[in-house]
Amino acid sequence: MRPSPISATVDFDADGVQHGFLRLPYSRDDAAWGSVMIPLTVVKNGAGPTALLTGGNHGDEYEGPIALFDLARHLTPAEVTGRVIIIPAMNLPAFVAGTRTSPIDRGNMNRAFPGRPDGTVTERIADYFQRVLLPMADVVLDFHSGGKTLDFLPFCAAHIVPDKTMEAKAFDLVRAFGAPYSVSMLEIDAVGMYDSAAEDMGKVFVTTELGGGGTASAATANIAIRGCRNLLIAAGIVKGATEPQPTQWLDMPDGDCFTFAEDGGLIQFLADLGDTVEKGQPVALIYPTGRTGLDPVTLRVRRSGLFTARHFPGLVKPGDCVAVIADIVAG
Ligand SMILES: [Zn+2]
Repeated sequence: MRPSPISATVDFDADGVQHGFLRLPYSRDDAAWGSVMIPLTVVKNGAGPTALLTGGNHGDEYEGPIALFDLARHLTPAEVTGRVIIIPAMNLPAFVAGTRTSPIDRGNMNRAFPGRPDGTVTERIADYFQRVLLPMADVVLDFHSGGKTLDFLPFCAAHIVPDKTMEAKAFDLVRAFGAPYSVSMLEIDAVGMYDSAAEDMGKVFVTTELGGGGTASAATANIAIRGCRNLLIAAGIVKGATEPQPTQWLDMPDGDCFTFAEDGGLIQFLADLGDTVEKGQPVALIYPTGRTGLDPVTLRVRRSGLFTARHFPGLVKPGDCVAVIADIVAG
């Protein structure tokens, strides 16, 4: 396979702090020899494990970028044993546009793996992560939130994977992250995901969903900042003591967790995030908007549990995910 067209302006093997870029040539109307410049920071101190930290996999999710721009300013080599690679805006074109996917090629970074060195801009970035950055990493933390169309109770998560040693390490880091909720995820559609790319390579992979609505609150930003540092400490890469936080464990075992709209219209939620709901309970009404006098459609949840995520905008379309219900797990 041909080499990646991306070049890094930092030396990944050098000790110290380096702020630089991943530079991807991108010829276009306003810059014949232009580039996509993805900012990154590398903090390295001697031998040890490598953490690869990413935000902006989806461009309209903000807790991760906030935590990682913050960490890039503050983390010092003296605190580190090994290496921390910080990339706050993985899909930079999407992040700059404030959209989930890239405005250049509509590429969804989390469906673009393993990528291609001669593909679209999004595929070229994915290929660089697949063949250059992931192989360097021992621990991978990829921040997500709901973006403009979803809102989540703030949680940190890892996947059920075949390698139970790796799975246990990932859940130890989820516990250390210390989000208000911690989730065991079974991925329903894992094809092309960064998560799967990392896990297939044997990397310990942790992710989050920390809020949504296309913004970040003071509370969720602080969960991200504190959680990231806690995770690095628990992984043995940053010195210090973790700040233990209470967390409620949740499980999303199957497709019954998800309720989808079959009609478009104006949505009225009948419960809020954090409410416990019973199987069959109405969770939302969807009003047809074209005329008055019509009855709304009632949407019911398909399992009992905690109302964990919801559609964010006030209007829904057929097929939109309206509600996610998670099982409350002891301990
Ligand atoms: Zn996302």
